[in-house]
Amino acid sequence: MSAEDIPNVIVAVRIRPLSLDEQNHGHRSCCHVVGDQTVIIEKEGIPNRHLKSQRGSTNEYGFDIAFPVEATQDEVYDRTVKNVIPTILDGFNATIFAYGATGAGKTHTMMGKHRDSKSYDEFIDDEYEDGVPDTGIIPQSLSDIFRLIHIRQEEEKAQHENEGGSSSWTVTVSYLEVYNEAIRDLLNPKSKNLSLREDAQKGVVHVSGLRHVDVASATDVLDLLRTGNCNRRTGATSANKDSSRSHAVLQVTVKHTSTTLLSRHSPNAEISEGKLSMIDLAGSERASSTQNSGIRLTEGANINKSLLALANCINALSSTTQKVMRRRSDSALKVKEKRFIPRTKYRDSKLTHLLKSSLEGDCRLIMIANISPSHTSFEESHNTLKYANRAKNI
Ligand code: ADP
Ligand code: MG
Repeated sequence: MSAEDIPNVIVAVRIRPLSLDEQNHGHRSCCHVVGDQTVIIEKEGIPNRHLKSQRGSTNEYGFDIAFPVEATQDEVYDRTVKNVIPTILDGFNATIFAYGATGAGKTHTMMGKHRDSKSYDEFIDDEYEDGVPDTGIIPQSLSDIFRLIHIRQEEEKAQHENEGGSSSWTVTVSYLEVYNEAIRDLLNPKSKNLSLREDAQKGVVHVSGLRHVDVASATDVLDLLRTGNCNRRTGATSANKDSSRSHAVLQVTVKHTSTTLLSRHSPNAEISEGKLSMIDLAGSERASSTQNSGIRLTEGANINKSLLALANCINALSSTTQKVMRRRSDSALKVKEKRFIPRTKYRDSKLTHLLKSSLEGDCRLIMIANISPSHTSFEESHNTLKYANRAKNI
């Protein structure tokens, strides 16, 4: 599949199963997938016989993909992120967001579960022997990136033996959190609040002083993540704070330099750089809690601000894409158009501002909105469905 065939924005919803504990406590399932793209949610829980007659009700929401509780990690990965991985090697940017309330399954979707079914948060405290723990989006993407690089290296080797020239691949990783509109480097716990610098001419945004670490395997990255997550919990600013209050941003940059020999004296170097950003967002329930005061109120307002800014960016990205597509089919010409999001939309929050170069131009955005099916989480799950549905205006 070439980059042009992959939609620029995919908004998916995933319902996690009721846990054993929830089942034992009599929780009822209040949401359900119908077909491949629709989620129905009902306050008191849905009796099965009502499923069909519910269609068309106001509690029905449409998405690019709706994953039911039975969906496996592989299925989620294969239908969302897998296809964008080759585009990263070709020099494009892509961003994956896990959205949802605390306990809805964001970290499970991003990281996965350990073999003996520990959650990732427990798992990262353990030693692990064979690298990739299970098959959430992050470990799967990383192993695909390194597998594809290996394949390309082999192809290039054969080519260079015939035609001369050389090539190199480097992969670097950064890991930061955005908490209360402050950026903290999780790979450098001594660093203080980092600032964003925007190159006015090129429009490129970077985090000043952020550590970028060279990595050679998926295991290297998982090790860094583990270190970063420990820093996340023990950091100076994180007194009295848990992971549900900050956005965790993992960025993997793949750089390819290829030199062909046009003649012995004029080597021709081509450099491409693609970036995959994978973000475990702050719990969306934090944005709307009305009982907050003091620091919690500021936190909530900041989370609200960044999640709104993100929805605006997704909205702008998908609507400009639609316009371009319409124009393309009108003129039957494949016009490559740089999609444009007004500056203010990025600047509305640190999160969107730092991701600017991954939210514009020819890049891919995938949001997986996670919900719990329990009737006790009705309000949060309903809010998540409304947010994800509006983000793309489907
Ligand atoms: P969040 O990161 O959104 O707070 P978690 O990913 O930690 O939520 O999920 C909460 C609990 O539910 C964890 O114990 C996790 O292992 C479990 N869980 C989440 N999604 C699934 C799923 N699709 N299948 C099985 N268990 C899941
Ligand atoms: Mg989590």
